Amino acid sequence: MPFELPKLPYAADALQPFISKQTIDFHYGKHHQAYVNNLNNLVPGTPFENAALEKIVRESDGGIFNNGAQVWNHTFYFESFSPSGPREPIGELAVAIESTFGSFAAFKEQFTKSAVTLFGSGWAWLVKKSDGSLEIVQEPNAGNPLRKGLIPILTCDVWEHAYYLDYQNKRPDYLQAFWNILDWGAISKRY
Ligand code: MN
Repeated sequence: MPFELPKLPYAADALQPFISKQTIDFHYGKHHQAYVNNLNNLVPGTPFENAALEKIVRESDGGIFNNGAQVWNHTFYFESFSPSGPREPIGELAVAIESTFGSFAAFKEQFTKSAVTLFGSGWAWLVKKSDGSLEIVQEPNAGNPLRKGLIPILTCDVWEHAYYLDYQNKRPDYLQAFWNILDWGAISKRY
C-alpha cells in the first residue's frame, strides 16, 4: 500500500495572510508530495517495503530516512494549523509550558529564537521528555526527535521553501506569522 499525501484539514487559502495560498500550493502540493513520491520509489525491495511511516522515521537511514521523515514532519507541521482554533495552549500542555518556561510568552520567545537561529535547513521542535517535562530542540535537515525517544508536540519548518515566497530572506517575519495560525486545540492533544 503506497504512502499517500494526507489531505489538509483546511483550504489552501485559509491561512492567509500569514501563509499564502501560493506557499501552500508549492510547499504542500509540490514539496510534500515529492517526499511522498520519493519514498514510494525508494522502499520497494527494502526491509521498509511494508513498514509504518513511524518505523521508517525511527529506524531507516539515507534516502529512505530523509524522505520518510520529511513526509512525517510535513504532515505534523501542516496539521498544526487552522484558520481559527485556540491561539494559546490548553489543559495539561498549558500547565507544562508554564512550569517549564515560566509563561507562554517566554516559551514563544525561546522557540522563536531556536527557529530563527537554526543554521541552514531544518526543524525547530517542542518535545515532551519521558518525565513529562518539555524541551525545545533543533534538528537539521529531515531530523526528527522520535529517534531520540522524545515525543514531538510542535514543530516549525525553517527550510527556505517554507517561507521564501512570502517572506524571502526574513525568517523572523515568518516566525512572527507562525504564532497567528497555530491550532493549540490540536497541538495540546499531543502532550
Ligand atoms: Mn518544508
